[in-house]
Amino acid sequence: MAVSFNDPALDKVKQTLVTACRILDHEGITDGYGHIGARVPGADAFFTIANVSPGLATVERLCMLDFAGNHLGGEKTPPNEWPIHACIFKTRPDVMSVCHTHSVWSTLFSVLPIKLKLLHHYGKFLSADGLPLYEAAGLVRTIERGDALAKALGKGPAVLLRAHGDAVVGETIEQSVQRTIRLAKLGELAHLALLHGEPRWLTAEELETFSADERFPQRGWEYYVSRLKK
Ligand SMILES: [Zn+2]
Repeated sequence: MAVSFNDPALDKVKQTLVTACRILDHEGITDGYGHIGARVPGADAFFTIANVSPGLATVERLCMLDFAGNHLGGEKTPPNEWPIHACIFKTRPDVMSVCHTHSVWSTLFSVLPIKLKLLHHYGKFLSADGLPLYEAAGLVRTIERGDALAKALGKGPAVLLRAHGDAVVGETIEQSVQRTIRLAKLGELAHLALLHGEPRWLTAEELETFSADERFPQRGWEYYVSRLKK
């Protein structure tokens, strides 16, 4: 299916993507680097921010690429690590959005011998066994590396990148953003807890007792948007 960057039907996804970038910046998860991708519905294509910091994202500074990295519209300069989005969208039809950050907390647990496991129900979207790890050091600038990262992610919601950060996926942009923020909270909490010894991590059975439909986390999204306006 041919897609156009300027199709008015895509305005909402582009605007939501920009808001999402501003939120991750405002919440201190991204810094000058990191990016969010959003699948173009019904096409083998996605939007992400051009080579710009998430906190400076605007609709005019988005770009549209296909899964081979061909430019389909918008700004000409994609982020260096565009294969993160391309390769995850290619292998995971259920994923509509990918956040890639250099979160302090994800980076910390990506290099520790201890797995980041769960000690709050904010982690319900994750496995009680902790997060998988993409081992290769360095940026994900090639399809080969992107494919290896997608393999490490598997069918899961998030993967840590060793000495680098994380990639978190969702069925909506709102969900991937909320999950990314919650992952950072879990990392911070686990770090604090470990200062006191081995925490009593939540078990899979305990996680089951928390019920939540997080496909569209309206309440969290509304809250993060309200903070942008302050
Ligand atoms: Zn990166």
